[in-house]
Amino acid sequence: MGLIDQAMEILKAHKLCDNCLGRQFALLGTGLSNEERGRSIKTVLTLMGHEFFAKDKVRGESLLRTVAINGFFAPALGILQSIGLELRIEGKCEICENIFSKKEEITRKIASELGKYEFNNFLIGSKVPPRISEKEDALRATFGISTGEALKAEINREIGKMLTVITGKKAEFNRPDILVVLDLEDFSISIEVNPLHISGRYLKLKRGIPQTKWPCRQCRGKGCERCGGTGKMYQESVEEIIAKPVLEITGGEESKFHGAGREDIDARMLGSGRRFVLEIKNPKKRNIDLKELENIINTYSEGKVKVMDLSFSNKDEVRNIKAMSQISTKTYCALVELKDQVPLEKLELLKTKLTGEIIHQQTPKRVTHRRANLVRAKKVYRVDYKILDSNRLELIIEGQGGLYIKELISGDEGRTKPSVSSILNTEAKCLQLDVIKVDEKHSEHQA
Ligand SMILES: [Zn+2]
Ligand SMILES: [Zn+2]
Repeated sequence: MGLIDQAMEILKAHKLCDNCLGRQFALLGTGLSNEERGRSIKTVLTLMGHEFFAKDKVRGESLLRTVAINGFFAPALGILQSIGLELRIEGKCEICENIFSKKEEITRKIASELGKYEFNNFLIGSKVPPRISEKEDALRATFGISTGEALKAEINREIGKMLTVITGKKAEFNRPDILVVLDLEDFSISIEVNPLHISGRYLKLKRGIPQTKWPCRQCRGKGCERCGGTGKMYQESVEEIIAKPVLEITGGEESKFHGAGREDIDARMLGSGRRFVLEIKNPKKRNIDLKELENIINTYSEGKVKVMDLSFSNKDEVRNIKAMSQISTKTYCALVELKDQVPLEKLELLKTKLTGEIIHQQTPKRVTHRRANLVRAKKVYRVDYKILDSNRLELIIEGQGGLYIKELISGDEGRTKPSVSSILNTEAKCLQLDVIKVDEKHSEHQA
């Protein structure tokens, strides 16, 4: 059976709008909409009906009635009216219940909801009530249709095309700024705004600031006497200092900070800084001037934190920087106090005995409350020292990500082996620590 005969059989049995008839042949003829396919088929059937009419009035009239009434097709109705037949077109499309006639109304509603947000692209999704898809499936089974597409696909595409016309924004399938889900049961709309990711590097120029928000240990963030009602262990963090201006500018609701590792609260982060990605949830604005944002953050931070190289990013980078922080090389500058004065020759041992050495570190006492208690093996790539006075040194230590520097110096009561303390055979204490370099590539030192 050819397409036209098939379409005629379908229309004899079912009332279908242009879209729903055309969709059964969606795989035929590229560059056409299903509405165009449906209209074209109905037009051909109307011409055929009119042609039959002269030779076989009954057959012609029957076909024209089918197209006019079951196909809601005005040109066929017009021919029947011209020969004196009074007919009325009634009812709804049996599959879509005339959803397509509400296309513009729905799209305008979506566009108005989206007016609250700044976005560069979007994606439309829809929920089709089961009764609708079941009807379409049954029709395809009955008539052996193998050239159709899903109603959902057509709705998403058609609403998307119209939304592009109204808003000037394009559909984006991989990473849309905004996802609109249309429920075809009640035409309600839900909007999911994808987070805005901004990456960059930060310096921490003041000690005593944690990298991320740290909820009060006693009240877990609710606010208590210990934390003075703030719910926090520390009044500020690198995260909050950076996120506050960004939340204000983007109108976002919440932020999440992802750093490529973290430094101790009392350590500064110097050099070229540490990579981070700031995730802003539900942003109202996303086309922001990042150079201007950088200035705003750096002014707001009052010299405690500095950001640079801001750029728009995505969630893949979050994964990348987390993975990278485990393997990247870090260089530290530590101010070390020794209990006893150590002769120069012995200090040289630090270079010879630590360079290239694998350090075994049982989880430091100070972090056992948040880290699994196990022995980690981390490599030291380079050690250098400068004598400051009789019992103080400045140590430059380059090591594998995750190496605990304070414990490498003190030995942590034998939990870290070897250590500066064990090599020099005297108590050693880290008074001050700065991170001076975080390498971004996989370490070249690794054998
Ligand atoms: Zn329909
Ligand atoms: Zn508290």
